[in-house]
Amino acid sequence: MASKRDYYEILGVSKSAGEDEIKKAYRKLALQYHPDRNKGNKEAEEKFKEATEAYEVLRDSKKRSQYDKFGHEGVGGFEGFGRGAYSDFSDIFGDFDLGDIFEGFFGGGAFGGRSGSTRRTQRGADIQYDLSLTLEESAVGHEVQIEIPRHEHCETCSGSGSAPGSKSATCPVCNGTGQVRQTQGFFSVTQTCYKCKGEGKIIANPCKTCNGTGLKVQKRKITVKVPPGVESGSRLKISGEGEQSSGGGVRGDLYVLLHIRKHELFERHGSDLLIDVSISIPLACLGGEILVDTIYGKKIKLKVPAGTSSGQIFRLKGQGLPYLGSYGKGDQHVRVNIDIPKKLSARQKELLKEFAKISGEAFDQSRPFYK
Ligand SMILES: [Zn+2]
Ligand SMILES: [Zn+2]
Repeated sequence: MASKRDYYEILGVSKSAGEDEIKKAYRKLALQYHPDRNKGNKEAEEKFKEATEAYEVLRDSKKRSQYDKFGHEGVGGFEGFGRGAYSDFSDIFGDFDLGDIFEGFFGGGAFGGRSGSTRRTQRGADIQYDLSLTLEESAVGHEVQIEIPRHEHCETCSGSGSAPGSKSATCPVCNGTGQVRQTQGFFSVTQTCYKCKGEGKIIANPCKTCNGTGLKVQKRKITVKVPPGVESGSRLKISGEGEQSSGGGVRGDLYVLLHIRKHELFERHGSDLLIDVSISIPLACLGGEILVDTIYGKKIKLKVPAGTSSGQIFRLKGQGLPYLGSYGKGDQHVRVNIDIPKKLSARQKELLKEFAKISGEAFDQSRPFYK
């Protein structure tokens, strides 16, 4: 074995680091160097193994004190590392959505030699649903019923997986405990039984409807309440509405990913809205009132002062979108554009020429105009 780096150094923590700090440091490294994220990268794989090994020792107060006293020798039984000891990933990654990564990783056996799953908690998978909303719906909030196909307990076997009338048998590998113990040199590791996946029971006579899985895909209607003010990319979590677990575990969660459709009149800027309106030349010059659309459907009066320029922006306070999760609303900005008529009648032309003349413009259409 080549000379090994110090475990604290590997994790980048001090010798006095607390449990949380060690866990955090490891989580960061594990995410960075995870083999599923670094396909074919030997160096990343080595780093991941190294960090995992360091973590496995430092997280355990007994092993840690052995290591502190005797160095790597003190925890020397670690040569066979990588074949066990991982059953507690849910512990560190519990609040991360890493189920799939770890499933693929351990299932595929990046370290080789594993069979079956290491997952102790048989939590159902999460489901993602994409929901498209109009800007109006995101402004006032929205309640909608969606239909998702998901795994439910099989009705034929009530989710047991065993054909009706038959019973499941005690797992011969773990004798029904759901756990197997493996001795690895210096210490032993308890892990979830690969045969029964921790259930302690195996199905002797599988249910024909679900092939022994205990699950069946069914369409379920779920009411989704979208709060006002959400943005595109917001994700709503509906706990316990994901896939049914095949074991006795809890359901996964349902994530509703929101997409807000582009609006033909309004442009969104966070909680503020921008709308373009056209006004006539006389209105821009003389001033007046116009009616402006709002996202809430009601038109609102806007005073345009005399002498307004094209591109000027006015603010309708509190007519924007609600602040998500708090009181108040953004503003609506109104950008006025002066409408230049493409066609003029003889009388209109006459009046404009008259206007130019009164304004002191030496107006002659046959020559370039300089003021
Ligand atoms: Zn069944
Ligand atoms: Zn078993």
